[in-house]
Amino acid sequence: MKVGSVEKPGVLKLAEREMPGIKNADDVLIKVKRVGICGSDIHIYHGKNPFAVYPRVWGHEFVGEVAETGLGAKSVKAGDRVVVEPITSCGKCYACRQGRPNVCVDVKVFGVHADGGCAEYVIVPEANVHILPEGLSWDEAALIEPFTIGAQACYRGGVQNGDYVLVLGAGTIGLTVASMAKLYGGTVIVSDIVDGKLDYAKSRGADYAINSAKEDLFGRLNEITGGMGPNVTVDAVCIKKTFEDAVLVTSTAGRVVELSFNEIPSEIAPVHIIKKELSVCGSRLQTKRFPVVIGFIKSGQLSLAGFVSKVFPIDQMAEAFEYTEKNNASVRKTLISFE
Ligand code: MN
Repeated sequence: MKVGSVEKPGVLKLAEREMPGIKNADDVLIKVKRVGICGSDIHIYHGKNPFAVYPRVWGHEFVGEVAETGLGAKSVKAGDRVVVEPITSCGKCYACRQGRPNVCVDVKVFGVHADGGCAEYVIVPEANVHILPEGLSWDEAALIEPFTIGAQACYRGGVQNGDYVLVLGAGTIGLTVASMAKLYGGTVIVSDIVDGKLDYAKSRGADYAINSAKEDLFGRLNEITGGMGPNVTVDAVCIKKTFEDAVLVTSTAGRVVELSFNEIPSEIAPVHIIKKELSVCGSRLQTKRFPVVIGFIKSGQLSLAGFVSKVFPIDQMAEAFEYTEKNNASVRKTLISFE
């Protein structure tokens, strides 16, 4: 079968692999239909992900049809349309015992630590499979995983009905955060330096959009929140300045959520955190967010239509990566199709 592999940093290849077979009772064999290209896949391609081991079949955002199941699999059957939750954990460490397997000491992400979804067929444990809402297209279904990342950031930030939520960065992840924050009842303010991204965020329901290259971010936030500041700030940019801005601008008793692996330090005086008793936290991957996102789709509250930028057939995988990188300022999601 055909797989999309990063052979070593900088070398993307359509490779041939043995078709996988059912081995364990809870194995589910999936015929993959779509796989999404994430910023982290591009990092793996360029050798910039410290966790990736090569060669690696990339892809953690994938959906498909169940082809076969092990004898013990009860919740899914052949023909079911599913999305895969791309994480496994040890189940024993402190994080796992706390119900936070996404930060398990031995967490494995498909497409990063283990082979992923850019393959004609993939085997995953039954526990990692979620049945898709009826009528959802494959293109839309492939967006469920990225939206779980937005849902996790809102969960970590404790977004409540009536909160002002500031999302720094209107890239793909920022947009998923903004959408989910709106569904949790927030008044959503999105900031970016690209007008096109801000326009799209507004078209998806963001209440306010601020171009921080042209407008005074703090002044506008004061105006919008009546001097209080946003109650939750999700930093989906995570550069020195955005982390500092997030801490400075967030309201008293507020929450700051950081969303990347950036290693560049910021300068933040403790007083700004303590005076306002801020909670500053990270949000990594997701835990238990698939049912949440699927629930919002089923109830008709979350529409994923129009979010995908372009779909490429698997034979044009290299072009798909090139397109995604070259059009960084406008691409929301590029998908690979196996149909
Ligand atoms: Mn992703």
